[in-house]
Amino acid sequence: MEWFGTWQPKIRGKLFYNWPQGSCEEHLRFKNTNQLGPEPYDVVIVGAGVIGCGLAYKLSLYQLKVLLVDRLNDVGEGTSKANSALIHSGYDAEPGTLESELLYEAEIEWPDLASKLKIPIDPIGGVMMAVNREQEKQLSFAEKNAHANRATNVQILSSKEIRELEPNASRNVLGGLLVPGESVGDPFITSIAYAEVALTNGVDILLGTNISNVEVDHKSLAPVHHIISSDNHRIATRRIVNAAGLGGRHFADRYGGGEFDINPRRGQFALLDKSARSLIQHIILPVPTAHTKGVLVSPTIFGNVIVGPTAEDLPLDDPTATHTTNEGICKVMEGGSRLVNGLNKQPIITTYSGARCACRQGSYVIRYNDGGKGIVTLTGIRSTGLTASISLANYLINNLNKEVGLELSPDKTAINARPNSAWPGWWKRPFQGNLSNARDDHGCMACFCESISIGEISDSMDSPLKPRTMDALKRRTRALMGRCQGFDCQVQIAEIISDHTGIGISKITKNGPGSELVTSSQEEDIK
Ligand SMILES: Cc1cc2nc3c(=O)[nH]c(=O)nc-3n(C[C@H](O)[C@H](O)[C@H](O)COP(=O)(O)OP(=O)(O)OC[C@H]3O[C@@H](n4cnc5c(N)ncnc54)[C@H](O)[C@@H]3O)c2cc1C
Repeated sequence: MEWFGTWQPKIRGKLFYNWPQGSCEEHLRFKNTNQLGPEPYDVVIVGAGVIGCGLAYKLSLYQLKVLLVDRLNDVGEGTSKANSALIHSGYDAEPGTLESELLYEAEIEWPDLASKLKIPIDPIGGVMMAVNREQEKQLSFAEKNAHANRATNVQILSSKEIRELEPNASRNVLGGLLVPGESVGDPFITSIAYAEVALTNGVDILLGTNISNVEVDHKSLAPVHHIISSDNHRIATRRIVNAAGLGGRHFADRYGGGEFDINPRRGQFALLDKSARSLIQHIILPVPTAHTKGVLVSPTIFGNVIVGPTAEDLPLDDPTATHTTNEGICKVMEGGSRLVNGLNKQPIITTYSGARCACRQGSYVIRYNDGGKGIVTLTGIRSTGLTASISLANYLINNLNKEVGLELSPDKTAINARPNSAWPGWWKRPFQGNLSNARDDHGCMACFCESISIGEISDSMDSPLKPRTMDALKRRTRALMGRCQGFDCQVQIAEIISDHTGIGISKITKNGPGSELVTSSQEEDIK
């Protein structure tokens, strides 16, 4: 099956991996800036997390020359890949803040966005549970706060009502809050879908490229700045958006951006096997504290259950910021078990952690003309960026016009959707339930745990944003993500990539150069 089926828009943007020779096909390899064309960019976005990708998607609907650049080797590979994956209703935001406003707008936009861009979401709703008298007292405040945030149909529940909704609720539950607007979403496909539409509409995407310096043009009336990569490529641009998440402080130092302090706030999770899914019907929310939303127990869109996160403040640049620890995982399992009976009997199939971009100056800090004309700093997008990525992009578009003079002329040829064939196979099979549409390789399994076929992996490799690492394929197809966590299928999937692309097996990586799966000497053994 062709990626776009019978609908075949031309991919107008250029995609490059800044990788050594032999690690990807030559036409995808970044060698020099001539490949990007002679004109300066109108906007360069540094950071291809969900925030950078969402902005690139929205900018791609206008006649602009845009570059999205990231030091990692796929989009959404930083904090955006390691969160609770809730599409929040904003019920617990601080009323009157930009965050509250963005969450309100996002909740309205998400159903249409998900169906246009083929992002799986499930609006299962949340149930907050109070398990002691102190928490019980906070429920009426939480309800009022939700109403102040315009979160609809939020209401207090008795312990009896909770048990009817959640038969495995802890015996200690005294009452709770129904939060119908909460959904679970796909954290991976969100960034990918934004970036794919952006690329199709002409946004260039450069991966594996760390931006280590900026030459700010302070002299011209219409300045052209240069961003400079660690390997000395200079890229000219009229505007820069710093969407570098936890890398944002160091990057802002390069252009003299104003004061802000960020630190990673680590959140660890346990991922339970699919057998745990029947324990809960909703997203089970704890009563939040001033510091954190607390440990939740939530179904994933994929049919597992997650328990987490912790909230541990670490120093900037702490190399352990995305490690998991025995202590952290014990803590989340204890927290989850206070809400749901039987949780600790369920098998944990893996653990992961993400680092929130906690900023002392607040959430959703946005500075225009920061350190130079046309330079925009985004920071403090801490706990709700997946949800607000779309409303923040809309908000920024308007302000980029007002604050940094970005001319917005709609591109009438731009697409604003992905085709049906872009639904991930685990959500909707590529042959759409009609076996006569299936190819032979849709019947050949590569990942038995998640029932993902060789055909689906090949289709994914041919998709616009050509994934070329094992992790990138995993996030798109779910191969390697099941109960065996790749133990059974890793080698076969590496071989599928190698056969499909002609890249030698010793050059296939987990997540980019330096993470090769086999050595050249082992390659001989495989042959
Ligand atoms: C534990 C946890 C739970 C969360 N739960 C939810 C939730 O349920 N719902 C929700 O809506 N949100 C949630 N969030 C928040 C959400 O994940 C973040 O707000 C969002 O992912 C931030 O996206 P970003 O693009 O700003 O950052 P990132 O995804 O980190 O992207 C920044 C990118 O910049 C790149 N970069 C940095 N420096 C450079 C450089 N010098 N050159 C090139 N590239 C660079 C990085 O490689 C990275 O890819 C949670 C977060 C955590 C950690």
